[in-house]
Amino acid sequence: MAIDPDFHLHRERVGEHAGHDVWGPVNEPETLGIHGTHVAVDFDICDGSGDCLEHCPVDVFDWVDTPGHPESERKADPADESACIDCMLCVDICPVDAIDVEANRL
Ligand code: SF4
Repeated sequence: MAIDPDFHLHRERVGEHAGHDVWGPVNEPETLGIHGTHVAVDFDICDGSGDCLEHCPVDVFDWVDTPGHPESERKADPADESACIDCMLCVDICPVDAIDVEANRL
């Protein structure tokens, strides 16, 4: 299952983390929702492979530990989504389609 590119229409914004939005539902540690809006990572799909962290040309992502999550115990957090240059590399290389990038989502 890939991230829903229309998640902002289907989910509620339930909080903020490290300066970006969090879209629910969130029920830690098993359900973590989507982090970010311009650069959105579905934490419930992310498998912690780190391809986006390694290859993003402007270092948008940071690791965040998520102990107890069934998919992986670390996630690629879009900590600096405002730096994104919309190259779409992360969307293309994510092995589990956990990322969507849309500058004008809202
Ligand atoms: S689209 Fe490009 S610049 Fe933006 S977060 Fe993904 S890899 Fe980084």
